[in-house]
Amino acid sequence: MDYRIALIPGDGIGPEIVREAKKVLDKVCEVYGHHFTYQELLLGGASIDVHGIPLTEETVEAAKASDAVLMGSIGGDAKTSPWYQLEPSKRPEAGLLGIRKALNLFANLRPAYLYDELKGACPLKEEIIGDGFDMIIVRELTGGLYFGERKTVEEDGVRKAVDTLSYDEKEIRRIAVKAFEIAKKRRKKVTSVDKANVLDSSRLWRKVVEEVALQYPEVTLEHMLVDNCAMQLVHNPGQFDVILTENMFGDILSDEASMVTGSIGMLSSASLNETKFGLYEPSHGSAPDIAGKGIANPLATILSAAMMLRFSLDLDQEADAVEAAVAQVLKEGYRTMDIMSEGMTKTSTAQMGDLIAERI
Ligand code: NAD
Repeated sequence: MDYRIALIPGDGIGPEIVREAKKVLDKVCEVYGHHFTYQELLLGGASIDVHGIPLTEETVEAAKASDAVLMGSIGGDAKTSPWYQLEPSKRPEAGLLGIRKALNLFANLRPAYLYDELKGACPLKEEIIGDGFDMIIVRELTGGLYFGERKTVEEDGVRKAVDTLSYDEKEIRRIAVKAFEIAKKRRKKVTSVDKANVLDSSRLWRKVVEEVALQYPEVTLEHMLVDNCAMQLVHNPGQFDVILTENMFGDILSDEASMVTGSIGMLSSASLNETKFGLYEPSHGSAPDIAGKGIANPLATILSAAMMLRFSLDLDQEADAVEAAVAQVLKEGYRTMDIMSEGMTKTSTAQMGDLIAERI
């Protein structure tokens, strides 16, 4: 099959880790007989350096014309980089928010998977870890409290701030459909997280999710209150398959879930729109402290590329092969600096990419 992939290396370690992900994708093409055409796009600091702005129309149009976007990360050291002398709307992060908005990416996917070999990095007790965990958080990204009307006023000498949490049924339905579609490709369980004992928006959320569930009889749906979910993530993380939730709850829970894996260099993510199109990127930042040293962990980006194969290109077998190669390399004891432990073999960014590609 032929696909057009937009690559956004970005800033800091971005170019180094995207290079390794491309290496792995090239190997996938070779082994499975696909053809990917790549177009490199500028975003963030890299775009500021060339165009004076973090996001150009050209980047947006080229991204829209592709089947999927694979990104490194954006941004620099806020204390030393000249990018942060610019007004906030011209800084690197504005480019990232801008492209997410321009591409209408309303669904954010963050897997939290514990590799057997990295159990030592998990902050939970062994009896809680059990056989490990493998979940994905599907978070609504463009509605809710972060996008509702807000104001700060003074009434009778008392300052008051108001934020509005609003969801309509269309917004809920489209993210719920994403979660059920993803669950269909996994262990077929959706845990919808809300605060329906208090919030009207959550009560509507629950109703609409139940309506969507009727279209997916093979998927089990359960509801969980957000406070309970926060506890369950550190009490029994193995119970979760797909967690579906609104914007703010998802913001908090996805960070909690990723931290229980313990390894920032391993965390992939995806943001999808209503079609199959998506933007795939590691959850970590541009790590300016280690940029250019060849020691960054490329696995989060390689695993993001695997998500791209699965969710945007429907190449499930190829995605499985990439994920299996990552597991295999860890099993063989290869580690980048950030996940290094005693007795393991230390590898550079490029060596890690080679090792994964060799095992596809
Ligand atoms: P960071 O994630 O870049 O780094 C935090 C720590 O983790 C650093 O010590 C770093 O060296 C380490 N680290 C991160 N990724 C690693 C990897 N792949 N391999 C090995 N070590 C890794 O977070 P930060 O330092 O707070 O932010 C740095 C810059 O990244 C800032 O400009 C921030 O705005 C930006 N950022 C961008 C994104 C994005 O592009 N989506 C996300 C978060 C932060």
